Amino acid sequence: MNDKPTNSLGVLAALRRIAPTERLSTREALHLAERQAEAFRDLTSTTGARVSLDALRKLPHMRILRSRSLLWSGLSYWSGKDWVVCLDATEPTRRQRLTAFHEYKHIIDHGRAHIIYGADAAAADRAELVADYFAGCVLIPRRPLRQAWRSGMRDVNALARMFEASTRAVEVRLVQLGLVADFNPSRPVRMICVDIEDLIEPSCLRRSRQEAAA
Ligand SMILES: [Zn+2]
Repeated sequence: MNDKPTNSLGVLAALRRIAPTERLSTREALHLAERQAEAFRDLTSTTGARVSLDALRKLPHMRILRSRSLLWSGLSYWSGKDWVVCLDATEPTRRQRLTAFHEYKHIIDHGRAHIIYGADAAAADRAELVADYFAGCVLIPRRPLRQAWRSGMRDVNALARMFEASTRAVEVRLVQLGLVADFNPSRPVRMICVDIEDLIEPSCLRRSRQEAAA
């Protein structure tokens, strides 16, 4: 794209414009997510392996909050003025980074998830899978991971430090890119989040885990 938007709504609009207004197969939705992830890095002038959460935080009309009483890894909603992403402050920072971009994919899809993923019983699971994939693509982009791997950097912990991601997220990306066969297919990386389409009001921010358990 030649014209780089200078505000979050412009970035958001640009990412939404990439999406076709038709039902996508899971494979097509994953491909779209990677295109959007690459476009996000380009539109926010993100270079190098590590993407700063500031790339998201500094966009106008975008707020990132942290709560120690969140019931989920993350949630996101439109406040009427801003898009708000709330993260579970008790989770590791690297996990929070993944959750933030997972939620951002839900924001991109907001209002059109039923078109992209359909309305069948498995649609919500597809949306979650694709949001995870988008987050992985933003945080651990294909090209630098391939370059690092092919240059001989095979230590997953070192790669995790390089991308400031969890080791499990790096393992998943290595498998997704076909660089390794698999690490542990029984332990997928999945977020636990609230679908913004279902979130009516963010009262859950004030609810504690203790209250929920009572
Ligand atoms: Zn989600």
